[in-house]
This record gives sequence, C-alpha cells and structure tokens, in this order.
Amino acid sequence: MNSKSYKLNLFIPVSISILIVAASVFSIVLYLQFAAIEERKMMSAPNFEQEFTNRVKNNVNAFDVLIELLKYDKEIQELFLSKKTDKLFDFMQPIYNRLNEKMDVTHLYFLDINGKVILRVHDKNRHSDIVDRYTFKQAKLLQKPFSGLEFGIKKNFTLRNVHPWFVDGKLIGYIELGKEIDKIMSAISKIIDVEVLMAVKKEIYRDASTHIMQEIHDCVETKDYYIVYNTVAVPDEMQKLCAENMEIDLHIEMNEKYYHTSVNPIKDIQGTDIGYFIFLTNATFERGLFIKMMLILSISIGVFTVLLLVMWKVLSRKRELQINEMADNLANIAVTDELTGLYNRKYFNEQGLLEINRAKREGLCFSMLMMDIDFFKRYNDTYGHQAGDEAIKTVARVIKSTFQRASELSFRIGGEEFAVLITHNKKEDLLERVSRLQEALLLEAVEHKKNDASDFLTISSGLVTCTDGDINNLDVLYKKADAALYAAKENGRNQVAVYDSISPDA
Ligand code: GH3
Ligand code: MG
Ligand code: MG
Repeated sequence: MNSKSYKLNLFIPVSISILIVAASVFSIVLYLQFAAIEERKMMSAPNFEQEFTNRVKNNVNAFDVLIELLKYDKEIQELFLSKKTDKLFDFMQPIYNRLNEKMDVTHLYFLDINGKVILRVHDKNRHSDIVDRYTFKQAKLLQKPFSGLEFGIKKNFTLRNVHPWFVDGKLIGYIELGKEIDKIMSAISKIIDVEVLMAVKKEIYRDASTHIMQEIHDCVETKDYYIVYNTVAVPDEMQKLCAENMEIDLHIEMNEKYYHTSVNPIKDIQGTDIGYFIFLTNATFERGLFIKMMLILSISIGVFTVLLLVMWKVLSRKRELQINEMADNLANIAVTDELTGLYNRKYFNEQGLLEINRAKREGLCFSMLMMDIDFFKRYNDTYGHQAGDEAIKTVARVIKSTFQRASELSFRIGGEEFAVLITHNKKEDLLERVSRLQEALLLEAVEHKKNDASDFLTISSGLVTCTDGDINNLDVLYKKADAALYAAKENGRNQVAVYDSISPDA
C-alpha cells in the first residue's frame, strides 16, 4: 500500500543555532581583543609619562652632580675667570666628549653673569651671544640651579640644567648642561613597546632662525605640525590624525605591524602648548592571536558542523525509517480487519474506486466477488460465538489463499460477509477459481450440522464481471454482486451465481 514519507526536517533550526553560536563566539573574541588592546593603549600615555618624568628627574640629578664637580674645579675656575677660552675649550673638550658618549650630554655652556656665551664646548665657534632662555632667566632670577624641558637652538626638546657659579661667595657666571631627549624617548619606547612620534606646532617655529628651519625642513609636516621626532616611520595616516586635532583613534597597518593610536599633549617648562606626543601601541600580537583564534574557531565550528550534520543525517534517516514504518503500520491498522487480517469495509470503499479506475485505464476486466457464510446464525447458536469467530477466520484464510495476487484484494465487508476485487484480463476463468474456493472450504471440514446445504461450513458466492467498456461504478457493481449472491442463496446455498447468467439485462 502507499504511505507518505515522513522526513525529520531539522536542517534549518540546526543551521540557525550553529550560526547564532558562531556569531556569538566571534563577537566575544572580537570584543575581548579590542578590550585587551584598548587597555594597553590606555596605559601607553601614563606609562610613557611616568617613565619620562623619572628619567628626566634622574638626568637632572646627575647633571647637578656633574655641574657641581665642574664648578669646584680650581683649574676650570681659573681658566674661566682669566677668559682663556681656547685653553678652557682644550681642557673641557675631552670631558664633554666623555659626557656625550656616556650620558648623551649634547650641550655644555659657560656663561658670564649676564648670560653672554663665553664658551659652547659642543660648538666652539659660536659664542658671545646672549642666552635668552627661560631656564637661564630663572636661574639668574632665583640665583639657584634651575632645570626644565625647552626648545632650544636645535629643533628638539632639550633638557637643560643651569647653575649659578659662585666662587668664594661671589657670582662669576653660569654653567649649563643640556641633553636632547630623543634618546630618552627611544629608550622608553622600547621598554613599554610603544612607538612615539612628536608633533610640534608650526607656530612654535615662527621666529626660528634659518639654521633651525633648515633642520626642520627634513621633517614630515602636516598642515599645522612638524613631526620632529619619531621612533618609527611616520605613517601616511598622520596627516589625517593631525588634521582632526589629534582626537581620533586610528588603527594603522605599517611594516607588517598593526598599531592603535593615542595622543598626549606636550607642554614645555613655561606651560606653553608645544604639540603632542603620538603613541602607536603595537597590537600586532593581539591581532595575530585574534586571527589565529578566529581560524581555530572557524575550523572547530566547521568540523563540529560537519560532524553534527553527519550525525543528524544518520539519526534522522534511522528515525525517518522508524516513523515511516510506524506510519505504515498505523495505515495498515486503519485498513485492516482485526479478526481476519483481511482489508476492512472502509478500505473496500476507498480502494474499490481506485481499482475500478485502474482497470478502466489499463483496458482490463474488473470483477467483484461477494461471499456469505451459510446458516451462520445457526452455527453460532450451535457451536458458540467463539467457534463462530474461528469459522470466520477459516473462511478468510481460504479466500486469501485462493486470491493472493497483487491484483486481487480480499475484504471482510460485514459480520460473515466477504468480498474480493479482481482486476484481470478476459481470458481469466474466475468461475472456475471461485468453485475451487468453495471446494477448498469444504476440505477444511469445519463441522456444521445445522447447515441444510452440507454437513460442513459452506459459503454462497455472487460474482459480477465487467469488461473495460462497461465498467460500472462501485455501487452498481455491489448491487449486482449482491443480487448474484442472493440468487446463490435462493438456489440452495454452497454455490456460485454469476450476475450475467441470472439477469443479463440488469
Ligand atoms: P444465510 O445462510 O441466509 O446467510 O443465514 P445466516 O444465518 O448466515 O444469516 P443471518 O444474517 O441471519 O445471520 C448472520 C449471523 O452472523 C448473525 C450473527 O450472529 C453472526 N455474526 C455476525 N458477525 C459475527 C462475528 O463477528 N462473529 C460471530 N461469531 N458471529 C457473527
Ligand atoms: Mg449475512
Ligand atoms: Mg449468512
């Protein structure tokens, strides 16, 4: 019989669930990556500042000690006071060279009490000019050592430490030590793994000499800034960063590294806004880790999905088979007579129509055979209802074994009434087969003493056959077969009657 195929369709819910899980995991990983980078980025400026302040302080202390040593050297005092600048230079040069080499000292000045340059040890030929810097002015004003970060002769931020020079309680001049801070910054940059760029406002150089401007000329410039110092190549995005007033957070890829930017304003010792430190926090590791995690996750989710799909396919196939089997069973139960296992009356009505149509389509003959147990009421009365059931089962078995082809369907259509629908070709001698059925039942030798037609259980049969041209509808056929059956009963039972032979015009 035909049964629908019941498939378990879990594909869409399972796919959606996997997609949701994958999307959530990816978002979490992405969020964690950004959080980790953000935290490091947030720390870049404070870390730099702290490290920078410490180093500046250490340098100031070291310079204090050095200047003290120079101030108390009798020979230096004598050479300075006697204005023997060439000799002073010869004496100081090796000292300066060592300081330059060991401590990155880049400036060493001897000034008179008015700030006139007696000797620049780092630049012997320039002298006699008046120093006009804030650090000097403060040292002069306070008559105490004074230090700070200042823009000086060169383009760079310079740490300067100026000491008044007293001999026997009398001011004889000033000594100034200076150090460009490039080295401090590059050391810090390495320690905290942050690249540093220094963007100085162009207006700071408004009054600068041509000498300075020549040096500045080599710097990368944006609309408002010169990038005067950089521990890494100046990225192309710098124009954009500086144009937006240093407020935006950029992600930069450069030299196969990946950076996040942040900025911190720079002020000099007088509190003037000089520009900005721009920090490039190296997030290459986090990004690499993120890409690896994404890759591993994608592969895991892929493998998991494939496994799940295979498992789902196998399980659902098994389940599908079970469900289909159950559906088949249910469908069979619905069309089967419980006592005999033949098809029931309901199925007779449904399938009868289909079988008639099939026969018409295929140009075949169609026959309906109706059977009824003879004097069955008496049988029940004599042998009991249970024996009656057994007798019904015996008749069913005999019918089934006589008509067992696929084109022959046997039904129990009432208490002790049966029918067979047969699709066949013209040559088939059905009457002969029905007669054999009657004989086969007799051979079962089910005793029925109250049967007037025999000593054994018998049936009467009515047969109607139509050829393709005149295949009637089921009701008409039913009536005809019933009429034939009635005739068989009337004729004395235990026999077959054929509809055509009893009433050819009906
Ligand atoms: P006839 O030869 O004219 O067919 O006489 P009959 O007694 O067989 O016909 P009738 O229609 O008078 O009686 C049919 C009986 O079949 C009545 C009922 O008790 C019996 N019967 C119907 N269904 C069942 C059943 O499922 N089991 C049993 N044991 N008896 C049944
Ligand atoms: Mg009956
Ligand atoms: Mg009967």
